[in-house]
Amino acid sequence: MSESLDQDAAFSLLADDTRVRIIQELGRATASPETGIPELAYADLKSRVDIRDSGRFNYHLKKLVGNYVAKGSDGYRLRWPGMVLYRTLVAGLLTDHTDPAIDRFSVGTDCHRCGDPIEAHLYETLFRVRCDSCDSNYTDIYFPSHGLNDRNEEELLQAVHRRSRMIRDSMASGQCPWCASEVTAEVHAGDDSLPSLHDTRDLTAYAVYHCTDCTGFQYMPISQILLYHPITISFYYSHGEDLTAIPEWTLSWAVTDTMTTVLDTDPWRFSVQIELGDETLTVEIDGDLTITETAITP
Ligand SMILES: [Zn+2]
Ligand SMILES: [Zn+2]
Repeated sequence: MSESLDQDAAFSLLADDTRVRIIQELGRATASPETGIPELAYADLKSRVDIRDSGRFNYHLKKLVGNYVAKGSDGYRLRWPGMVLYRTLVAGLLTDHTDPAIDRFSVGTDCHRCGDPIEAHLYETLFRVRCDSCDSNYTDIYFPSHGLNDRNEEELLQAVHRRSRMIRDSMASGQCPWCASEVTAEVHAGDDSLPSLHDTRDLTAYAVYHCTDCTGFQYMPISQILLYHPITISFYYSHGEDLTAIPEWTLSWAVTDTMTTVLDTDPWRFSVQIELGDETLTVEIDGDLTITETAITP
């Protein structure tokens, strides 16, 4: 069987509501701290799925056993791919097509380019933190709609920051956060255009991380890669600050290239300066986005 036929078979398994409900009930049983049941007995699962026709229930359960569901001595449980599927359903990634209403709101930081307030808003499933006046896009990240529930604006911004950080940190460390493949790291010249049409920041150059297996893609100012590097995290820590908790859009040195000097263009070499308290961290970065020199000076 070819790979595409395997994938067709996998998707067709989910084309039926009963199968989706079986996955959901097995997932809920595993997630519930009250039950703590690793396996659901046949009768229990059938009653939770709420289906009377045994023949139909058996038919659909059988389709799932193998890749998504395991049959043990006490009943049924999700296998790892089934668990991933359950989590995807909970996140609302495959099923939730209604965009929750989130009014545009100010994040409390002025645009590093034009000085107008930076605002947050939801565009389809993308959460954006940007300046509408000058089209500087500081954060643009897929945020599962489930995570929008029950959070006030401040909690939501912190959650968006953490998610953006998790994804970019993974990319910058060389691993795709979606499919776990290796990602390529490159420097591209700004040339007055960035990969996103919604971002007109005038960057001389920017970093591109790209997964060729699943289309996973992130770009950022050269200096922003330092948000994820231990030298910068420890520099902040030595000044009593947790860099990982600071939203990227508040850090001018990270989201613009005002503190970046181009040392060479062929091959690319950059120097980035970060000032904190009475010290300056200077970092040199090469065309592979590798850090080659660091120095802390008073
Ligand atoms: Zn602006
Ligand atoms: Zn990937």
